[in-house]
Amino acid sequence: MPQTAASKYLEGTEACQLNMRKSVDAWLRCAQDLLWPPRCVLCGQAGQSPALDLCAGCAGDLRRNVHACEQCAEPLSGEAPVIVRCGACLRKAPRFDQAFCPFIYAYPVAHLVRGLKFSGQVAHGRVLGELLAAEIRLRRAHALPDLLIPVPLAQPRYRQRGYNQATELAQSLQRRLKLELRTDLIERTRDTPEQAGLDSKARRRNIKGAFQMCAGLPAPRVAIVDDVITTGSTANELAQVLKQAGAQHVEVWAVARAAKVWAGRVVKRD
Ligand SMILES: [Zn+2]
Ligand SMILES: [Zn+2]
Repeated sequence: MPQTAASKYLEGTEACQLNMRKSVDAWLRCAQDLLWPPRCVLCGQAGQSPALDLCAGCAGDLRRNVHACEQCAEPLSGEAPVIVRCGACLRKAPRFDQAFCPFIYAYPVAHLVRGLKFSGQVAHGRVLGELLAAEIRLRRAHALPDLLIPVPLAQPRYRQRGYNQATELAQSLQRRLKLELRTDLIERTRDTPEQAGLDSKARRRNIKGAFQMCAGLPAPRVAIVDDVITTGSTANELAQVLKQAGAQHVEVWAVARAAKVWAGRVVKRD
């Protein structure tokens, strides 16, 4: 269909607004770097630009989850690059369609996550969110989802902590990737005990029926945001609720994957 003068004008205006927004964002990042230079939250050395509070040395300690199951992000043996799904997903596929976890749950990510969850270190959330956003930008080849939904906390836990760690991460993703973030669509109806120390069967039982939709889903492609995937049972339960509400594609974005086996050794998952 031929473009009318009005639609051409509107397209031109939108492109101009987008360019202006990018320029303003770049200018704000420069001003922020000058006024509050980034500082490493782990060792206190100078951080990296733009606005990453992690020095190059500490960033060098990050353990990358390079070769992983494309559905649940479980790290796979480096000798088998043709395998794209792990045995567990081939036996019983999770409800979510794919997962992206760029790092292994080990120092320094594990230290940053524990600080965010248990010691009120909100600055750790900004670092982890920036790292996750940068990895998605770098490694994502296909279209981004329509919506970000952080794994909700139950009200008592939220009041005790004062924030939801998954929302802290999702805010960085919203800012960097220009995605819609919704925290009002789904709620945790009961406060489940911490999953730490439970095996995968107990985790599934623990989380069953813990979420419910409290509004209609406005778009069909969703990314659930969490700090760590351990067995995937929380993401699985949430994905099931989202699919029942009409989601067509649900993926999970988490900073880290707790590996069953890492560097040939069985790893304790907490
Ligand atoms: Zn450092
Ligand atoms: Zn898998």
